[in-house]
Amino acid sequence: MFNLVIFGAPGSGKGTQSEKLIDRYGLTHISTGDVLRKEIAAGSELGKIADSYISKGQLIPDDLMVDILASEFDRLRPESKGFIFDGFPRTIPQAEALKKMLEERGEEVHSVIGLEVADEELMERLIKRGADSGRSDDNPETIGKRLKVYHSTTSPLRDYYTAEGTYRAIQGSGRVDEIFSRITEAIESQAVLN
Ligand code: AMP
Repeated sequence: MFNLVIFGAPGSGKGTQSEKLIDRYGLTHISTGDVLRKEIAAGSELGKIADSYISKGQLIPDDLMVDILASEFDRLRPESKGFIFDGFPRTIPQAEALKKMLEERGEEVHSVIGLEVADEELMERLIKRGADSGRSDDNPETIGKRLKVYHSTTSPLRDYYTAEGTYRAIQGSGRVDEIFSRITEAIESQAVLN
């Protein structure tokens, strides 16, 4: 199994690049944001809880997120040759929980691809995405909060994964296919995929 974390601020291109990585390497995608949005759309109890945080630009509590992630992983694992974790982990405790969860299953995170994009560009991209997709958390006020949370709580994971030896910084500005080439080069220098 080859397990990859795609990491970066909201709007850094994680979802777009994940789709291309799935096509290239046949990996299984777990986007915690997508899982939560589905729960919200279904009107489930979990969806109601998730919505109360997402609409304020806040993170869902770690314990809940870790349970969701583990159950998605176990559900999808039988047909998977490896995973892309998109939007998870977002905190140091989540990264520690992911490590433990994978270790208990004889697995590990092989590569962490960090998409690095300046805040001004993120803001522009997210406002545009909000207009195109209608995502309710892509409005200027909530975007500002999400970027703050990213810098205070999520960006320390860069140092965490650098210490683990798995972090690869990728310049996340430019054309989608150029960025994708940078990513595949980084991955293929780290691991042999088959
Ligand atoms: P995303 O689609 O990854 O940008 O996620 C949208 C929103 O879902 C985030 O702003 C958070 O409120 C919530 N969310 C997604 N993944 C996580 C996570 N790993 N931990 C906490 N909250 C999350």
